[in-house]
Amino acid sequence: MTLHAYWDKLFNSELQFEQYIDYVECDDESWRPAVHQRISEASCIVLHLSPKGDEFPRLSVPKTPISIRSMDAFSDQFDEYYNTPLTHPSSGSGLLYEVAFLDRLKRMRRTLLICENTELDHIQEVIRAAHGAGMDVFDLKGSELHPHAPRLTALDNQLVALSEAHGIVVYSQEELRGLRKSRLTKRWKSRFTTKLRSSLLKVLLSATDTDSVGHSTRRHAIPLGKSPEPRRLPPDDELKVIQFTNVEDLLVIPYGKFVEVQLGDVYRALSADARSRGCPYCHAALDDIFFFSRELASTGTATTEIRGKCQRCGRQSLVENGTLVDV
Ligand SMILES: [Zn+2]
Repeated sequence: MTLHAYWDKLFNSELQFEQYIDYVECDDESWRPAVHQRISEASCIVLHLSPKGDEFPRLSVPKTPISIRSMDAFSDQFDEYYNTPLTHPSSGSGLLYEVAFLDRLKRMRRTLLICENTELDHIQEVIRAAHGAGMDVFDLKGSELHPHAPRLTALDNQLVALSEAHGIVVYSQEELRGLRKSRLTKRWKSRFTTKLRSSLLKVLLSATDTDSVGHSTRRHAIPLGKSPEPRRLPPDDELKVIQFTNVEDLLVIPYGKFVEVQLGDVYRALSADARSRGCPYCHAALDDIFFFSRELASTGTATTEIRGKCQRCGRQSLVENGTLVDV
């Protein structure tokens, strides 16, 4: 309703909301499947990446170096490094989930990113940093390791997929002021609208759903929801049993074949201390971690090897001797 009211205020009765906007109403439960469906059907997707607040949060690299003089100091200081909070995600989590869905549905080549010109540098910086996702990178200076990159959330790590987008079109504040003044009359034209129009045409006319030998790369849909049956799922189309969590609620799906393990089984396998510590990399709570087993997939029997994929930092851990350890 807010959108409808804003549209009416901007255009009076010159342009009818319903005539131009196919607005899909969803709730917390239904928006993810609805977005999947729309993305898989669309000929072109325009993604407006903007900060959740007034500006994008600054990316900061942890300052404290790690000494490699003694094993004890090294281990303590590495723990300290993992206590450093992750950087605040660049945008709203809903939008960053949508970036993950675009990638899963192989729709990046049909996606146009739009953003404000002053924000392009930040977006490119996050994309560069996200290329190192899943690793800790340090510079060796004397007998100290100096952290090299910001500690990004799994949400920001999704932005790396945007380097595959069809293109980026930027707008300026000045152009936005022009848009508000003109109330979108036919005379209103700017570099942004001209570029957007030509980029849209390029996407619509291009054959980006085929690879170099003409095979279709398009993925129309992926299985969603929960199922006790193995299903071929992203990121690698392997058989996976995701039975206690909705596929669409997962930001990071592990590679390879696996069977999801129930959180209750993980609780029983961990000490009280390990339960409260959570993810070894970012200390996310256990219910922010997706647990799975590879052995169960091949033998069908209970196993001691349970792995965790943290949905907050994206890193993988292993249940070992009652603790959750980094791998
Ligand atoms: Zn984590």
